Amino acid sequence: SLSGSLKDALKKLAGKAVVDRAAVDELVKNLQRALLSADVNVKLVMDLSKAIRTRSLDEELPKNTNVREHVLRIVYQELVRLVYASADLKLEPQVILMAGLQGSGKTTTTAKIARYFQKKGMKVGVICADTFRPGAYDQLSTLCAKINVPCFGNPKVTDARQIVREGLVAVKDQEVIIVDTQGRHALEPDLIQEIIDLNALTKASHRWLVIDAALGQQASEQAKRFHEAIGIDGVIITKMDGTAKGGGALSAVAETKSGIVFIGAGETIEDLERFDANGFISRLLGMGDLQALVEKVQEAQMADEVDMEAMMKGHFTLRDMYKQLEALNKMGPLKQIMSMLPMGNMQLPEGVYDVTSTKMARYRILMDSMSPKELDDPSLINSSRMQRIARGAGGTPEEVRELLKYYKMMHKTLKGLRGSGGGKFNMQRLM
Ligand code: GDP
Ligand code: MG
Repeated sequence: SLSGSLKDALKKLAGKAVVDRAAVDELVKNLQRALLSADVNVKLVMDLSKAIRTRSLDEELPKNTNVREHVLRIVYQELVRLVYASADLKLEPQVILMAGLQGSGKTTTTAKIARYFQKKGMKVGVICADTFRPGAYDQLSTLCAKINVPCFGNPKVTDARQIVREGLVAVKDQEVIIVDTQGRHALEPDLIQEIIDLNALTKASHRWLVIDAALGQQASEQAKRFHEAIGIDGVIITKMDGTAKGGGALSAVAETKSGIVFIGAGETIEDLERFDANGFISRLLGMGDLQALVEKVQEAQMADEVDMEAMMKGHFTLRDMYKQLEALNKMGPLKQIMSMLPMGNMQLPEGVYDVTSTKMARYRILMDSMSPKELDDPSLINSSRMQRIARGAGGTPEEVRELLKYYKMMHKTLKGLRGSGGGKFNMQRLM
């Protein structure tokens, strides 16, 4: 099987002391086969292969890591980078425009998303702008009735623009407004013009492309056309409960430079999941244990003991910071722990408490694309390095800046502890 040959290729790397070209080439060849058979776009597969080959051969082998783990980590990172959902799903008032061809699952997904926001406590309204498919309004309003979401539409009106104009007034009191559109059977100029108009009319906050997981190489072309027309900023893959692996959606994401927002995995309104990169990639490659493997490598790299003494003397690296956060996170809400400690009237900066486990995961990915030297001495990170790190982690330089700001804050706090007679204060107690 494909995943079998991929695993075999990885296994061959396990025994090596250094990364050699032949072994990497074999792995890349197997990876290509797996991705192509999952319908990932050919050019994308080639770009990925190149990145993986170059990084595997050029990057120094991190300590406590064998060749197999090193290469696997790179493969995983490169794939995650492609699908990293820009987590841009805010619980705030917004208009969402649904795009995609007929049958992709737009209408079903519209109702699912309505339900998603409703469960988060938001007021949701839906507009049916599909004037093409017979019974489109009935389909959507029936789904919406089940969840008590107002649905505006008018089967007698043939102009989608008019419906949307009226609809925006009708559902103006709702916080989240989702506009379901028609898809026809193929991309045609008037379909594209219509969605351009609807985008302008609604001033949509999001334009999400709905892609059937079984869609193959055409996914790129569709994504490209919709993206050129309205600027797609998120992809939803439907029918992931079927047999398809969703490689086409990966191509759509690459084409639109966006992320996967949701996965549809069933026909009921509840069958919508937030995207999980690991699950998706593991499935794409037919390997179930990717993240666990990668995490093991990362843990090994972070495993060096925190040197308390050095730290209290002011030597504090990014690795130290990460370990602290990790330990603290395991203990529960930081604020609570801090309040239990006898630290007198010492004030910690408010931001110290704000690091959630989601943010931790992002920090980890960012740190993972830093060099060992930078991890030891973050002052080496200038703005061009910031760009590179951000790119390597599928993030933004702002994110790197935030991490460094946090590091500085922790560092300063530690210095403060030393200076303010906090000698009795034992960091170990925090851990
Ligand atoms: P539209 O033409 O893009 O609006 O697509 P529809 O929402 O009408 O969906 C087309 C068909 O796909 C319907 O039969 C849906 O029940 C089905 N469908 C949509 N999403 C999913 C999904 O996640 N899983 C499964 N199994 N079927 C789905
Ligand atoms: Mg529809």
